Amino acid sequence: MYILPGFTSYQERDGTIIVRSEIYQSEIELSDPDIKKEFYQVTKKGCDELSTPMAKVLHKQKLLVDENEIKDYLDEYRSVLDHTFNAILMPTEGCNFRCPYCYENHIPTTMTRHLFEQILAYLSDQCTKFENIILSWFGGEPTLCADNVIEVGSAINKLHKKYRFHYQSDMTTNGYLLNEKLFRKLYTAGVTRYQITVDGRNHDLTRPHVSGKGTLDVIMKNITSMTKLPKDMDFKIVLRHNILSGDEDFKWYDYLADVIGMDNRFSILVKPVGNWGGDSVKTLDICSNTEKVELVRRHIEYLHQIGLQCCNKSKGPFSNVCYANYPNSMIFRADGKIEKCTVALNHPMNQIGYIDPKLGIIIDQEQQKLWGFHGYRETCAKCAEVTSCMNMRCSKGRIIDGLDCSSCDDFIPRTFLR
Ligand code: SF4
Ligand code: SF4
Repeated sequence: MYILPGFTSYQERDGTIIVRSEIYQSEIELSDPDIKKEFYQVTKKGCDELSTPMAKVLHKQKLLVDENEIKDYLDEYRSVLDHTFNAILMPTEGCNFRCPYCYENHIPTTMTRHLFEQILAYLSDQCTKFENIILSWFGGEPTLCADNVIEVGSAINKLHKKYRFHYQSDMTTNGYLLNEKLFRKLYTAGVTRYQITVDGRNHDLTRPHVSGKGTLDVIMKNITSMTKLPKDMDFKIVLRHNILSGDEDFKWYDYLADVIGMDNRFSILVKPVGNWGGDSVKTLDICSNTEKVELVRRHIEYLHQIGLQCCNKSKGPFSNVCYANYPNSMIFRADGKIEKCTVALNHPMNQIGYIDPKLGIIIDQEQQKLWGFHGYRETCAKCAEVTSCMNMRCSKGRIIDGLDCSSCDDFIPRTFLR
């Protein structure tokens, strides 16, 4: 049976059907009425044979595929992840904030110099082996160890010039210490992608400084200075907004629009606060499962209305694949543990290795494989999300929470061009 797979999208415009492959970027146009009729029949029922010219052309362009071919094409597409090394570094697990929804225990462990050098040597070695290197800074608060970030970034920059791999470095930071001077230094060290959480008018309640003071004004001052940086500085900043139950203070977005204007280096990500672990989250009024879907939808709608970029529904290649599922991703914790998922810190199933003082990085390959790709669901073949999701969104559910992953609530039947 030949079917239109999830990675083929189509849309009729001005009497012409445009059919496109999201994987191969091939595109054809169908305008003959009989051929259009045949095409719509194929979208509903597929076809047993490639007996017509239309079916043959679609198949040649990999837009209409045998059910057995889908897996091969998806595997080929997914293989880019085999050539990607993603290191997530937690140089310190200490933090200058005390956010009540934070699941981390705030024990201020910081990497020793010896550990740090072992990691740097390992990273440098991976740079000679992989086509794509992603270096992510996480914590604790990574800007507390800005010197380490700059040292590693400068070393990788040198290797980048020599080995020409694709390189991207990002940071999840609370943004408090990220003033213009530090931002410029980190930019030079290659850190060009950021996620900074700013919780609107609730911010000083949900993201207080360790001293108990509010932090919003300082962070917004830092963000304002970033908006004034030259437009040829190529960076991206996601402003994450964690929302509580009933939060519909959309004036916050009007204020943000005044600060960041139409600068497309900034975008907004709206996430309902969840029970991510720890006790203090219980002091907050978090959304119920039913409320959160509708509330987030209203936030996104407002953002679109006022023209702010929202990255909630990114459809880019692998955009919904969690880094923990990358075959070659690993978190280097400040205490020398090597783990996979930043939410399940310290869970024994999360640990895939450690740093031995003499032998260096030790990885348990079997444990690492547990977190990787585990096959497609039946629905993936026809799902419009397949190129962004690949059934690789959250392995923690499968491995640690024991969730039944046999069906998918997010399956979206393939229909329109994106
Ligand atoms: S896991 Fe669900 S959302 Fe992801 S590709 Fe498969 S069916 Fe689609
Ligand atoms: S595995 Fe799941 S919980 Fe862990 S970081 Fe990925 S998406 Fe989050």
